[in-house]
Amino acid sequence: MAKITLDQVRHSYAQNPDDDLDWALKEVDVTWSDGGAYALLGPSGCGKTTLLNIISGLLRPSRGRVLFDDRDITDIPSDKRHIAQVFQFPVVYDTMTVFDNLAFPLRNRDVPQAQVDARVHEIAKMLDLEESLHNRASHLTADGKQKISLGRGLVRSDVNVIMFDEPLTVIDPHLKWLLRSKLKELHQQIGSTMIYVTHDQTEALTFADKVMVMHDGMVMQIGTPVELFEKPKHTFVGHFIGSPGMNLLPCVIENGYPSIDGHQIISAQKLDIPEVAKRVEIGIRPEFVSFTPNGLPVEIVKINDIGQYRIVETRHKNTTIKIIVAEGLHIPTADPKISFDPAYTHVYADGYILT
Ligand code: ADP
Ligand code: MG
Repeated sequence: MAKITLDQVRHSYAQNPDDDLDWALKEVDVTWSDGGAYALLGPSGCGKTTLLNIISGLLRPSRGRVLFDDRDITDIPSDKRHIAQVFQFPVVYDTMTVFDNLAFPLRNRDVPQAQVDARVHEIAKMLDLEESLHNRASHLTADGKQKISLGRGLVRSDVNVIMFDEPLTVIDPHLKWLLRSKLKELHQQIGSTMIYVTHDQTEALTFADKVMVMHDGMVMQIGTPVELFEKPKHTFVGHFIGSPGMNLLPCVIENGYPSIDGHQIISAQKLDIPEVAKRVEIGIRPEFVSFTPNGLPVEIVKINDIGQYRIVETRHKNTTIKIIVAEGLHIPTADPKISFDPAYTHVYADGYILT
């Protein structure tokens, strides 16, 4: 296993990139420490697969270096990097048995038969594939095949990192949560560094200790699920994570605090006035807004009952503010006003957090 570092990595698929849009990865500086469970989260097209392929060596970055334990491996070929990669769609040899599929990466590296047997049984047990070990892979469902792909990724014990690229795409929704918790369990058992790529926040937040949020070829924030929830460093992170995502309210800064139409709002910290920011906004999650006797006046637009709680959509002038109201709590009908929990009230200038 190893620590993995991307040092000022940029990548373009264009021959002669000149425009900003030509870069699939704009500038990535990240270190993944040994043994961690990481997720790479971002919308489709933001550069996740490009990043994985640079780590595994399927792609050489246009700029920058890839290091394993501080050794520059940018020009070391993929098969010498000791990486296991599980792709979005199962890669399975249909004519082989499940056992032979799982054994393949080991036999390829001349692992002695006794060790192959032991390891294949161990992995099959973890993935509940023991029953079908001697069946042909062609008889399996898509779920079963993807389990084999996962198994093939997990079977080698000599890998630096195991990377999963949206591995649950073909899995039936009701099986997804099962495999998701299985993967988390496997990480605890195996202890290898794992990087899990997904566009699904639930998958990322349940699997990983640390989540790296990407947008448009850039890393927007790396943090624990709690950090991403409580203190998004960028409005993109605030909005992308959470359901519904963080509210954003245009404001001005007066006497060190944000103000909306003359209503002062208390934020997590007192601020210096941002000098050149074009756009200053309050970011507050729907969980941290409540109806109070005094505060910012709003009108109620819509109430959506989810069972455990209600999502109340309100509006102040042209700004929509969503509020999560627990079951049983009162929603005022006449003259509603709202307040924000100061500890979770952040201010953003041109998208980036000030406090
Ligand atoms: P993700 O995995 O997050 O969906 P990708 O890394 O696949 O994103 O893609 C990032 C960007 O690079 C996208 O704009 C995509 O269209 C572009 N891209 C990906 N692969 C290629 C390729 N082989 N040739 C040209 N452009 C590509
Ligand atoms: Mg992808």
